[in-house]
Amino acid sequence: MENEVISKNFIETEIDKDLAEGVYDTVHTRFPPEPNGYLHIGHAKSILLNYGLAKKYGGKFNMRFDDTNPTKEKTEFVDAIKKDIQWLGADWEDRLFFASDYFRQMYEAAVTLIKKGKAYVCDLTAAQIREYRGTLTEPGKNSPYRDRSVEENLELFENMKNGVYKDGEKVLRAKIDMASPNMNMRDPVIYRVAHMSHHNTGDAWCIYPMYDFAHPIEDAIEGITHSICTLEFEDHRPLYDWVVRELAYPNPPRQIEFAKLYLTNVVTGKRYIKKLVEDGIVDGWDDPRLVSISALRRRGFTPESIQMFVELCGVSKSQSSVDYAMLEYCIREDLKMKRSRMMAVLDPIKLVIDNYPEDKTEYLDAANNLENEALGSRKIPFGRELYIEREDFMENPPKKYFRLFPGNEVRLMHAYFVKCESFVKDDSGKVTEVHCTYDPETKAGSGFAGRKVKGTIHWVPAAQAIDAEVRLYENLIDEEKGVYNEDGSMNINPDSLKIAHAKLEPGLKGAKAYESFQFVRNGFFCVDAKDSKEDALVFNRIVSLKSSFKLK
Ligand code: ATP
Ligand code: MG
Repeated sequence: MENEVISKNFIETEIDKDLAEGVYDTVHTRFPPEPNGYLHIGHAKSILLNYGLAKKYGGKFNMRFDDTNPTKEKTEFVDAIKKDIQWLGADWEDRLFFASDYFRQMYEAAVTLIKKGKAYVCDLTAAQIREYRGTLTEPGKNSPYRDRSVEENLELFENMKNGVYKDGEKVLRAKIDMASPNMNMRDPVIYRVAHMSHHNTGDAWCIYPMYDFAHPIEDAIEGITHSICTLEFEDHRPLYDWVVRELAYPNPPRQIEFAKLYLTNVVTGKRYIKKLVEDGIVDGWDDPRLVSISALRRRGFTPESIQMFVELCGVSKSQSSVDYAMLEYCIREDLKMKRSRMMAVLDPIKLVIDNYPEDKTEYLDAANNLENEALGSRKIPFGRELYIEREDFMENPPKKYFRLFPGNEVRLMHAYFVKCESFVKDDSGKVTEVHCTYDPETKAGSGFAGRKVKGTIHWVPAAQAIDAEVRLYENLIDEEKGVYNEDGSMNINPDSLKIAHAKLEPGLKGAKAYESFQFVRNGFFCVDAKDSKEDALVFNRIVSLKSSFKLK
């Protein structure tokens, strides 16, 4: 592990080389999301990688919306993305850009290519272009429009811009090589006609640049040095290099690819998350069962836990998938020392202490976190009637059950030893009350009168308990079946959300949105930012306390 932390990732090695050879004298990165959905954990990796590199090398990090496609993009997404990136801690300072702000420069770049004889207007239909393109094993054929004169191309391209043609009637293509073994180099389309309103530029344009043409220009305009993207763009790199070379940008940027982050049995693709939202399977993009950044935040993950996760994942050139348990490990590690350990009973039954005075209330001391004194302590009221977890009592216990059963004694956390004397059942046979006696000599902090018991259980005072809805989550996906079916549908786990009606100790009163706590024995919980109200608290379980994950 230590070696991995010290050793550099392959992108850093490349950057070191570039700096040593004088290719660049600084490092300038960017994060370029398309505002067509919310960001997810995979994007977090890209954001923290790009931002982290800029910081490490004393360089700069830009935020840029890659909004060159007017069909799917929305201002709602722009706002959500900005919020998510800020929350993650990546700071673009005063460098927030929109690719659409460069439409004029992109148009001029296209004109430059036409003048150089490196681009032409083509009248083939989309289907014909595909047909002429050839296959992986066969070269393509030249378009009959490939040899139009510069003058004709300039005029037709201007007509395209002026709205003379219908969508799809004409496109502008780079003139590269129809026989290239790389399909992306076979005269790719670089501009198309689309009579559509754009979220930023409105109706100013009816032609829009294609991603492969626009992206290198955006990078070059902003002075990006290292344009880091994911592996699916590896085959597009020759085109990226062609664009910056033909347009003769000084200090052209360089593209470096790394493998996308995938989580096993978890939906990460924006397209699929969108489908879950649209089909109403989840309650919006921030449903705590999703791994969009807003969902992770709502569930109670912290920026620190996501940073740690991304670091543990590392950066690689080969595709792999990480266990969700690793993300859980990170949030447990982050919260363990930082959060108070409170008592909450998720499935309550009454416990009555028959020998405790009916009108008495004591206030017992409880450390907020035994491993972190700085979190201080609180007082918890204690009285004759309490709530305990239903599973902490059994009428006929199996061997090695050390909690309450008739005749057995346990310790109530922060309080006294109690011994089970009897219990009450309703007509259906369900236990409704457990009756105990307590031993006043065993008060916590007193040395328990020199006695020991095997089990310790938590409790909440009945008179002062607060009611809360607690949401317990399982994987949204049925892990036995895997995420996707061949037809693109997903295998949904019908039990991914369970609701518990819990009783909380009164110290949790007034808990605010996004505040999180450990509930002893039950996990880490966070106040739901959407549904929780001051007098009707709602908590999400972030993660349980038990872990199957081991850090190697
Ligand atoms: P999705 O596949 O979820 O739709 P995308 O790649 O279409 O994502 P963009 O908004 O185009 O989303 O991506 C912005 C940046 O985030 C890109 O540089 C992209 O490579 C990176 N990115 C997207 N998904 C991941 C991932 N799973 N792991 C790492 N980086 C990612
Ligand atoms: Mg995309």
